[in-house]
Amino acid sequence: MKKVFTRFIQFILTVLLITVLYFFIPGVWNYFVTYPKLDGQIEQIREKRKHPAKKSNLNEYRGLIHTHSYWSHDSRGTLGEIIPAAKKANIDFIFFTDHERAVLDTFPRGYHGMHENILMVPGTENHDLVVWPLTEMVVDWRKKNPVIIKEIIDAGGLVFFPHCEEKRPWLNPDYQGMEIYNIHTDIKDGESYSDILFNTIVNQNKYRHWIYRELFDEQTAILARWDSLNTWRRIVGYSAVDAHENQNIRARFLPDGRVEWLGPNANPIDTVEVGLLEKILLSEPDENGWAFKLYLDTFYHSYNFVNNHVLADSLEKRNIAKHLLQGHIFISFASLADAEGFLFYAENESGDLIGIMGDALKLQDVKNFAAESPLPGRFRLLRNGKIIDEKYDSYSYRSANILEKGVYRFEVAINFDSKWVPWIYSNPIYVE
Ligand SMILES: [Zn+2]
Repeated sequence: MKKVFTRFIQFILTVLLITVLYFFIPGVWNYFVTYPKLDGQIEQIREKRKHPAKKSNLNEYRGLIHTHSYWSHDSRGTLGEIIPAAKKANIDFIFFTDHERAVLDTFPRGYHGMHENILMVPGTENHDLVVWPLTEMVVDWRKKNPVIIKEIIDAGGLVFFPHCEEKRPWLNPDYQGMEIYNIHTDIKDGESYSDILFNTIVNQNKYRHWIYRELFDEQTAILARWDSLNTWRRIVGYSAVDAHENQNIRARFLPDGRVEWLGPNANPIDTVEVGLLEKILLSEPDENGWAFKLYLDTFYHSYNFVNNHVLADSLEKRNIAKHLLQGHIFISFASLADAEGFLFYAENESGDLIGIMGDALKLQDVKNFAAESPLPGRFRLLRNGKIIDEKYDSYSYRSANILEKGVYRFEVAINFDSKWVPWIYSNPIYVE
């Protein structure tokens, strides 16, 4: 009988061991083989960086459009967590999109103004819209979307469409921008949460940037939608980190000595007296009070994943908003390499710069397009969404003579891990 029992225990332990290995082997392989290789490769690419000569009089500001803080029901993010993450990612401005707390949404509210040289602009994500009134205003979410959109824009604010994998009222005449990339959208298109979880347990400290990169898929359907909309109305394309720092399990001590456990989407799991589990898992609270953290998403890695680079006169909310609306913006996948200095522009017969991404120009004034990139890569010029020219391995680009009206935009991909990986999307130049 004893023998049978021992065999049974051995069997159970073997099954457990195989299960653990099955789930953890990919993460361990990544830790020892794949991720060190990728770190080495990306370092070689970054070493080729040359800062392009400044061609435009505007300054470049790097920022986030669509991200969340404690004001949203599904985030606990405070300045203590947001500011260090933003500084580490070289972020100049943050356009928040907190979920509303009531049908009457009074602006300004939440984080706003300058905080340690970072411009913070409060906005809301609701009713399939992201909005920033930019002024003192009460948004009444009981009204219909077309009315809300118009009221905010008439007051000088911004209204964009988030999550453009979803159905949106594309024919609405008033909205001004759309997300051409959103991290959350990208996660929804097929990645397995359990794979991410086990990979994160192994690689969270050293290689979380590569765990994020594994989520990436080019959003071809959304880009095609953007191109097609731009053929009949102007629409600004921007990227969204949609960060909440909430796909986590974490715990903190409450003033009464009990422990509050939070799960994904910042939902409370339980509040308990300190027990055996807490004694084993909890350590000294960090500067934000967390005594246990298992994070899938962090503010820093989201902020550093994809950025908006706006060319503007000054780091002031109305000036950034004005240039954003003019399309003076390109997006870059920052965790690959720093894209600061990139420019897509048009030249006249004498070789002078006559407009940059976002500008509308007359066909008779434009001779050709040009671009400067901090890294060599695959350069693509698109007209009305179709690739019309491709050039490889140079820092600058100059097109043939432009003979047709149309909407022209520019992409840069870098050769990484034996693939061409999208790195920069510029907004278009409109030739009329
Ligand atoms: Zn969001």
